[in-house]
Amino acid sequence: MKITDPVLRKELTDILEAGGIEDAALEAQWIAEDIPDAEKAREIARRRAQHEPLQYLLGTWEFYGLTLRVGKGVLIPRADTETLVDAVLSRLPQTPKPEIADLCTGSGCIALALKSQRRDAEIIGIEKSHDAMQYAVINEMHLSLGVQFFHGDVTDPAVYGLFRGLDAVVSNPPYLTAEDMRHLQPEVTYEPETALAGGEDGLCFYRIITEKWKGALKTGGLLAYEAGIGQADAVAEILRANGFTGIEQIADLNGIARVILGFKDEQSIR
Ligand code: GLN
Repeated sequence: MKITDPVLRKELTDILEAGGIEDAALEAQWIAEDIPDAEKAREIARRRAQHEPLQYLLGTWEFYGLTLRVGKGVLIPRADTETLVDAVLSRLPQTPKPEIADLCTGSGCIALALKSQRRDAEIIGIEKSHDAMQYAVINEMHLSLGVQFFHGDVTDPAVYGLFRGLDAVVSNPPYLTAEDMRHLQPEVTYEPETALAGGEDGLCFYRIITEKWKGALKTGGLLAYEAGIGQADAVAEILRANGFTGIEQIADLNGIARVILGFKDEQSIR
């Protein structure tokens, strides 16, 4: 923790409290630490008091021990998603150079975290939003891990048709329901709708990706998803209906079934 001016910190805390920010003192501390110029720090606190996400205002956020650039146009990496990274790492084959595709990669957080732990893996992150993809590319430039990023729509046959024999397909797709989208927290309304909305029941991307990408996996290959609260059983059922076996649900740190994964069986119909 850096030493910060207690008078300024108190002033920032008051600004944040007036805007109804829950952890005002803690956020004031973070802002004071990150923004040395007092007037700029006050301006950031005023914007934060309007519920702009702190992550966008600071411009960087930690994920899986990596410092990632974030800003308007890209989904902010969530701590829940670290559960998906852990699950994939512990189930990846020990064979050298596993090939992995991270679909709807956004900031690149999953792809970059996987690569930081499995340096021999060949990882490609695919993203359809130009704005989001810019962050992924910048994050790779800063971290130099060697992840490739590819601009494309994962539901497009011209994209999934390019891949064969992958060891793993990983995704945290948009999964909020139409009802969720009508009741977003003020902070989440600043994030791109295309990174959040997963159709009427939130499951649209699980159906499409499971069906279209199983042909890109090798036999025994891993398909692993993050899902929203209450969606795990339905996602597991989509995997089962597509012939995946060894299906598991894994809870996040809050005990919510967050990761659903399975393996492509020899019997899986392409
Ligand atoms: N976890 C995000 C939220 O609840 C949603 C991200 C997603 O749809 N993949 O706001």
